[in-house]
Amino acid sequence: MEKQLEELKQQLEKQCLINQELQRQNKDLEQRLQEKETLLQDLQSQYHDLEFPSQTGNEIDPEVRKSRAAVIAPEPIPETLNIARTRVKKTASETNLIVKAIQKNDFLSRLDDEQTAMMVDLLTVSKFNPGEDVIKEGSEGDSMYIVAAGELRVTQTGRDLRNLTTGDVFGELAILYNCKRTATVKAKTAVRLWSMERQTYRTIITNKSKKKREQLMGFLKTSRTLKDLNDVQLSKLIDSMEEVKYQDKDVIVREGAEANTFYIILKGEVLVTKNVNGHQKQIRRMGKGEHFGEQALIREVLRTATCTADGPVTCFSIDKEVFEETIPVEHLELFDDSKVLQEAQAPEKSSPSSTLRFKDLVPMLYQEGRYQGDPVTLGVGGFGRVELMTTVNHGAYYAMKRVSKKHIVAKRQEEHMLFEKKILKVIQCDFIVRLHAAFKDTRYIYMVMEFCAGGEIWTKLKEVGRFDEPIAVFCTACVVEAYAYLHKKNIMYRDLKPENLMLDIKGYVKLVDFGFAKEMVRGEKTYSFVGTPEYMAPEIIKNQGHDFAVDFWSLGILIFELLVGSPPFSSSEPQKIYAKILDGVLKYPPYLSEAAKSIISKLSRPRPGQRLGNTKNGIKDVRNHRWFSSMNWHKLRVGQLNAPTVRLIRKGPCYINFDRFPLDQTKAEEEFSGWDRDF
Ligand code: ATP
Ligand code: MG
Repeated sequence: MEKQLEELKQQLEKQCLINQELQRQNKDLEQRLQEKETLLQDLQSQYHDLEFPSQTGNEIDPEVRKSRAAVIAPEPIPETLNIARTRVKKTASETNLIVKAIQKNDFLSRLDDEQTAMMVDLLTVSKFNPGEDVIKEGSEGDSMYIVAAGELRVTQTGRDLRNLTTGDVFGELAILYNCKRTATVKAKTAVRLWSMERQTYRTIITNKSKKKREQLMGFLKTSRTLKDLNDVQLSKLIDSMEEVKYQDKDVIVREGAEANTFYIILKGEVLVTKNVNGHQKQIRRMGKGEHFGEQALIREVLRTATCTADGPVTCFSIDKEVFEETIPVEHLELFDDSKVLQEAQAPEKSSPSSTLRFKDLVPMLYQEGRYQGDPVTLGVGGFGRVELMTTVNHGAYYAMKRVSKKHIVAKRQEEHMLFEKKILKVIQCDFIVRLHAAFKDTRYIYMVMEFCAGGEIWTKLKEVGRFDEPIAVFCTACVVEAYAYLHKKNIMYRDLKPENLMLDIKGYVKLVDFGFAKEMVRGEKTYSFVGTPEYMAPEIIKNQGHDFAVDFWSLGILIFELLVGSPPFSSSEPQKIYAKILDGVLKYPPYLSEAAKSIISKLSRPRPGQRLGNTKNGIKDVRNHRWFSSMNWHKLRVGQLNAPTVRLIRKGPCYINFDRFPLDQTKAEEEFSGWDRDF
């Protein structure tokens, strides 16, 4: 008994010691944890300061978007172009210089190998004497340059900026679109430049992208599993697929492993082997256009063979999960059935258009302040001026957009103006501004629209810095409804940004400005370079062809900008914006909710086919995302939700929610080419 007691005592003491040791270790751990946490908090606050300096502070944050974004209007791609005539063969060292120059350039380095190779191929030589200007500040750019030899000086408004020498790149934005040069570049010595015109680059790259899609379609059509899919579905599939590269001897799939990816070979050869009695037996060799792993897409299987790269291989692949999200492609969800029915049955809304005459419209005048007595201007855009009008008998207010015909012709925007009017005329959606009438004279075209008295979301956003979540959710939901309506009519919008969102008097959001909208056949792509840099989807920048998916990309950017106050990819230099978009790294400030981060990242997926809104459930997935969990979509559609945005709207004279603009004293020149016959 005593012996047992002694043993127990000893055990107890031992246990006590162990406990003490454990406690000590615990303390140690806790302290380390505490230290780590402090460090993390420190880092987080540093990061926060770095990325999102307080908006009330005095210091200027270069990343916060202060000015309205510039727009880039699409220009037609030339039908024919004689490239062969200008092609110049390059030596190895010349190629080397060009490739190095491309690699160290912010924007060009983001282009893929194929585009780089094409660029090397297409550059031609131009020579300048000392003192000659290569590009002039303020002029319109049509070429980019790489210095092959010599020295140049860059100046801006007469100020010396820097010198350029062999291997430097300049003017590269011009290969994307028609932009004004922001500096002058003058030859200091005799210089030799590699140069390329935008028209050449765009034509080639567009043709390449088109050919590549056609080829991929062809490849996909040879798959037995996919043979029942139609062209629209196959096109969607291509949008979801990704390019993967393998080195010689890389195993792409291994026999016996779980299968979840389907591959098409784009380049190179793949060896197929099987394990026979412990030895790898070669079954066959596959090349360009052949595919493997298609079973993985439709059922749970294990790989029945091993596929190994024989030399460098490029494949186009899709994972089962993504495939399931993409196919079957159900077209966009029906836009609230009850409403469609109502619209179909109701006679054409008795809009004043039938009776509204141009001569009945009179401008509203500022009633006080600096511009008292002048006509009220609601906004000045890239293409025109929008003025506040009323009728002689002072019934209603209208916003009238007036655009110079000469300007339209000069900027080759005839088609877009005609289209803007054509779509606005047929659109009957509460989330899109109504067009009541359109007029023209020898100098201008006029569009008389419903007046959105609450002002621009852009102005409100700048006033408060950033929106709280309920306001951002509400605004975005209105845009989602507008998108549902437009996409169902096969129209993509392509110019989403706070500047183009207006509030009506109830605080409901409406899309304005249909200058870039386009009607599209499902499954087809368009290749124009169009939009606002900060909101542009990667497939536009890469000239890969784009479709409705770009609207979902810009929706992600919009949510970010509404919640943060500036868009996620921004810079004062457009090429840096494009580089950031192509990198696709989203940095979220710490105050964003998990749900917000989730919806933004799903909308900002680089592959259009994987983007929320563009997968098989279409826009339904956007509506069902948890960020919208508080949204009553039905009430929103019928206008029964109290808009949280009303607190942003000021009360006072009808123009109180708008910036003020001085009188426009210029008169546009007359224009008689007749493009506006059908306007
Ligand atoms: P840009 O192409 O540069 O965006 P734009 O010349 O095509 O401009 P809009 O964007 O249609 O013109 O309009 C310019 C501005 O006029 C808007 O940002 C807005 O402030 C104001 N505006 C436009 N439509 C209306 C409207 N229906 N009610 C009130 N204000 C409006
Ligand atoms: Mg606009």
